[in-house]
Amino acid sequence: MQSRKIRFSHNKKKKWPMIVTVLVGAILITVPTIWIGLHDWNLDESLIALSPESSQNEPIPEPQDSSENDSIAVEEKPVSPLEPEETEELEEEPDELQESPTPPAEVPENNGYIPNQTLPDVPTIKNGFIIANKKNPLPSDYNKGEDQTAREAFDKMAAAAKVDGFELFAFSTFRSYERQVDLYNQYVEKDGQAAADRYSARPGFSEHQTGLAFDIGEVNFEQHWASSSFGETPAGQWVAQNAHLYGFIMRYPLGKEEITGYMHEAWHFRYVGVVPATDIYTNKQTLEEYLDL
Ligand SMILES: [Zn+2]
Repeated sequence: MQSRKIRFSHNKKKKWPMIVTVLVGAILITVPTIWIGLHDWNLDESLIALSPESSQNEPIPEPQDSSENDSIAVEEKPVSPLEPEETEELEEEPDELQESPTPPAEVPENNGYIPNQTLPDVPTIKNGFIIANKKNPLPSDYNKGEDQTAREAFDKMAAAAKVDGFELFAFSTFRSYERQVDLYNQYVEKDGQAAADRYSARPGFSEHQTGLAFDIGEVNFEQHWASSSFGETPAGQWVAQNAHLYGFIMRYPLGKEEITGYMHEAWHFRYVGVVPATDIYTNKQTLEEYLDL
């Protein structure tokens, strides 16, 4: 009896450490569970919230705005040129997706624009040529539609190309100011302003608003429309070598990015008339150089 009593009381004493252990264990399990539960059962978030710098980590850092960072804009670039083509408007305007995926290394500050420049009331005209470039925008209400003389010249060129086996098509010509607002905003939203400025004109600055710019491609070779690869196709080479005979110039030639403000566009031609076009072609000039702008 005696010995049992002793054993009993001995056992009772031993129970306290056990209760403490169970309680501590319960706390160890319950507290983290509640903590994680408070963070939507997201383990990463719960751990971040525990760290001393949690207040800084709270907002998950967004990628920096590409308009302030050239290198980011450059990295994003390759994604852009063709994707917009798959959106609704592509049908009529594959143009904007334009600009080749390789941005020029020497991009001028402001991408060639004069900071805070506002649109004028009248267009800039030099030696009879209406100008639309990054330094000479058009009035927002300049809205004459596609130029008839340019269309007739294009049709003549297309007829000549057909004889040589190429079926040309102008997939984008006149674009209104409002249309350019929509397009440009889409590209800025998608790629950031710095990147968008390299392949799409700001509203009022697009040569398409003059009605004299024709984006040219070959029927059944839509994969080369608004792509630098057009310049490597036989049709693209035909246009490059013959457009001046019909009054068109390749407006953004390779190697002239700093002068024109745009990357090379093998598909974008501007009507200037046969004599000026032939001069510009022969002297390997841009419109800016020809007019001394
Ligand atoms: Zn164009």
